[in-house]
Amino acid sequence: MSSTVRTRFAPSPTGFLHIGGARTALFSWAYARRHGGTFVLRIEDTDVARSTPEAVQAILDGMRWLGLEADEGPFYQMQRMDRYKEVIQQMLAAGTAYHCYTSKEELDALRAEQEARKEKPRYDGRWRPEPGKTLPEPPAGVQPVVRFRNPTDGVVAWDDQVKGRIEIANAELDDFIIARADGTPTYNFCVVVDDWDMRITHVIRGDDHVNNTPRQINVLRALGAEVPLYAHLSMILGGDGAKLSKRHGAVSVMQYDEDGYLPEAVVNYLARLGWSHGDDELFSREQFVEWFDLDHITPSAAQFNTDKLNWLNAQYIKQADDARLAAEAVARLARRGVVVTDGPAPTAVMALYKERAANLNELADALELFVTEVHPAAEVFAQHLTEPAKAALRSLRARLAEVVWDKAAINQAIKDTMAEHGLKMPQVAIPLRVALLGVPQTPSIDAVVEVFGREAALRRIDRHL
Ligand code: GLU
Repeated sequence: MSSTVRTRFAPSPTGFLHIGGARTALFSWAYARRHGGTFVLRIEDTDVARSTPEAVQAILDGMRWLGLEADEGPFYQMQRMDRYKEVIQQMLAAGTAYHCYTSKEELDALRAEQEARKEKPRYDGRWRPEPGKTLPEPPAGVQPVVRFRNPTDGVVAWDDQVKGRIEIANAELDDFIIARADGTPTYNFCVVVDDWDMRITHVIRGDDHVNNTPRQINVLRALGAEVPLYAHLSMILGGDGAKLSKRHGAVSVMQYDEDGYLPEAVVNYLARLGWSHGDDELFSREQFVEWFDLDHITPSAAQFNTDKLNWLNAQYIKQADDARLAAEAVARLARRGVVVTDGPAPTAVMALYKERAANLNELADALELFVTEVHPAAEVFAQHLTEPAKAALRSLRARLAEVVWDKAAINQAIKDTMAEHGLKMPQVAIPLRVALLGVPQTPSIDAVVEVFGREAALRRIDRHL
């Protein structure tokens, strides 16, 4: 394929970047990357009542976190008003658009008549210029809207890259408004001018826009613009088959950061949400870019599956570098107000826990036990640090003070203590865990002791004796 591919992500900044938007952004980004093309970010902020700077920031933050850098933009539609108005003037001059003076009352009356006749309500073209037709005299003092002169015959059709061929009869489409009476351009029109000016070759977007596509194509044709290819992505359903709700995914992508997901796990997860490459589930961003195509996007709705996302996250945590995980865990502790005061290197704790952690918050929880003063709950203390257990810890402490500091020697010291006191492994290991970390369950005890280092390990045991 040529390197002229240009895709765009065009969010309306009326809320955070949620899973659906993030997937649209990812697919548009990946398609551009796959073909050495350009990925454009466009902020569709013309709905001034609902657009906020916070939402723009949330979208930019979400995209940065996912690593979806735009090559061009962000462009803001509100900064392009002059351009839209210019194109409207051109269309008026070319006769592909016209002024319409129909008042709201007249439109209401028209609608009522059409509904009474069981017809679909539509503008009847009363101000549409036609050869040989005499238009009414424009009413004084009325600011007209501008309507697009939609073709009346034939069909508008496109080969949707996901849904297949779609054809709409032009008779179904009325002459829609492209500029309001106050001169502001309407949504569908701005999208068209932008896709044209930004030379977009592939429009990848949610299928909630399928109904806009025939109108947009007709305007592009009227402008003599090349019509891009369209790929409309099916919606994402919750795991229960219902519309995606806050419970499963309709939250900000930044919530996934908060919840301890690695961005590459979320990217991998989103990639499989409606697209597939054979049976591959776990793949890198680079592999995704290499494999991504529009042919393998499924036309049916994708289902959000939290278990799968969690599984992927665990896989990425296992693979992640200890230093990176440590930095994440330390940052999370700092946000909780926990200052690292004591204990082993965070990287060593990560190495110990990353095989079993479901998310970064669990790693932070683990680190917190190692680096802060541990106060076991009174009942945990009473249950596990019994007198016989303390006696065993006392002799184990004496051995640990002497041994060569490695896992094998620590293990031997525990075994010798068991033999001396006639105890089984858990009868020594569990009190030791409670003494060191305040919890009865940890990774392999000799590894935990080793990671502490002799000095810190002895100090923590001593507090209980
Ligand atoms: N601004 C639209 C939205 O947020 C997307 C428009 C488009 O992709 O054409 O849903």
